[in-house]
Amino acid sequence: MNSVEMQASGTSAMQVWQAQAMETRQRVWGDVPDEKWNDWRWQLSHRLNSLEDLSRVMELTDEEIEGLSAPDKFRVDITPYFATLIDPTDPKCPVRRQVMPLGRELRAFTSMMEDSLAEDAHSPVPGLVHRYPDRVLMLVTTQCASYCRYCTRSRIVGDSSANFSRQEHEAQLDYIRRTPQIRDVLISGGDGLTMPPKILDRLLGDLRAIPHVEIVRIGSRVPVFLPQRIDDEFCAMIRKYHPLWINIHVNHPREITPELREACNRLADAGVPLGNQSVLLAGVNDSVHIQRLLVHELVKMRVRPYYLYQCDMVEGAGHFRTTVSKGIEIIEGLRGHTSGYAVPTFVVDAPGGGGKIPVMPNYVLSQAPGKVVLRNYEGFITTYTEPLDYDPLEIRHLESQIPRRTEAGQEGIASLLEGRQFAIRPQGFDATHARGGEMHRLRADSSKWQPFLVGETLEGTAGGGDQPAIEAPAQNGEGE
Ligand code: SF4
Repeated sequence: MNSVEMQASGTSAMQVWQAQAMETRQRVWGDVPDEKWNDWRWQLSHRLNSLEDLSRVMELTDEEIEGLSAPDKFRVDITPYFATLIDPTDPKCPVRRQVMPLGRELRAFTSMMEDSLAEDAHSPVPGLVHRYPDRVLMLVTTQCASYCRYCTRSRIVGDSSANFSRQEHEAQLDYIRRTPQIRDVLISGGDGLTMPPKILDRLLGDLRAIPHVEIVRIGSRVPVFLPQRIDDEFCAMIRKYHPLWINIHVNHPREITPELREACNRLADAGVPLGNQSVLLAGVNDSVHIQRLLVHELVKMRVRPYYLYQCDMVEGAGHFRTTVSKGIEIIEGLRGHTSGYAVPTFVVDAPGGGGKIPVMPNYVLSQAPGKVVLRNYEGFITTYTEPLDYDPLEIRHLESQIPRRTEAGQEGIASLLEGRQFAIRPQGFDATHARGGEMHRLRADSSKWQPFLVGETLEGTAGGGDQPAIEAPAQNGEGE
């Protein structure tokens, strides 16, 4: 049924997808009683991964057969529940595209990497990525409920022989214990919710026992692949560890089913704030209209759209990648056109390991002293007149009551704005510009390059104090 026929019949796309899922369950698993079907352990132990299994659910295309037959492919495993969401006759079905391998996923592309976010390079101990100043990503398992073809961590995910040991979990916890600047821990993997309940319970308990860990977050696709796992027992366990946040991962509204709604309701009723992370995927959700339906359905089940990711340049994901401008177009179509809390932040996770970089349409058209010219989503252009008597230093006495956090080596542009440093030099900048010359009389006095009132003051406050501590700028590459 196309959208015109649906409108005429008063049927929504969501209803059509739901009816199709029920038909598939009846056709393939009609003999499985509800008691088994709703048991998450049954779902996990009956996952589909072979040509034979999957041909019972859908009419396989030649390219899917090629993908499934490839010897070195990323792991295939699909829960029966998630398999019912696949359109059995449409190879372009967005659910099917996410989990069914295609021959083309094996093709290399320019800039492709095995670990495109340099996570392993930024891990002080195996599986603990410490990229940002105050938080860490804790990879606790390599196992997932089903496997996404575009997975950023396909280098380890799915490989049970690469799974994290108890000793490695301990090393991760030890690092967090002895690093007091970590106030936020994100548990991911793989998917922590696929771990044996007792082990997950113990890990959460160990994290909660660390006094400086303020927030624990879990990133999980289990509510989407295996909503049966979010049972009363799980919710009772999770309640012990608040404040605990969960981000789910839904890419297309076809994944939003009564079962997922029920799982999200349970989590929200257990006091868990919920967010969603989607990946922008060619042929799956690279459409303003699909994204709009997705974010509306998410907020209806108390899930805040959080991030929309540009697809990473990771092996296997080449055919899913879009241009960055497609993401900007989607945000243009959402921001202002729907409620602000339904609009995710579009981010490019920096290739090479720089972390998430937000990208959005330009709303600031021009600036002059005292004026900012802005445009809204409709094209309405307006001027914000800035106060000419604003005193940004008036807040200082309140600011001084708040402890400052240090971000050694990661202060970035914020440190320029705060006056703690004057410039950020690329590595080797001073050496390049010294041109190999000798120290001479015009270079000898480094104080000539110290900007007045910029740098740490004797009181430890940012620039603007009375007595700036004069630091010699790096000479001939020293101090970089
Ligand atoms: S659920 Fe997450 S970690 Fe697992 S395969 Fe999908 S993207 Fe990768």
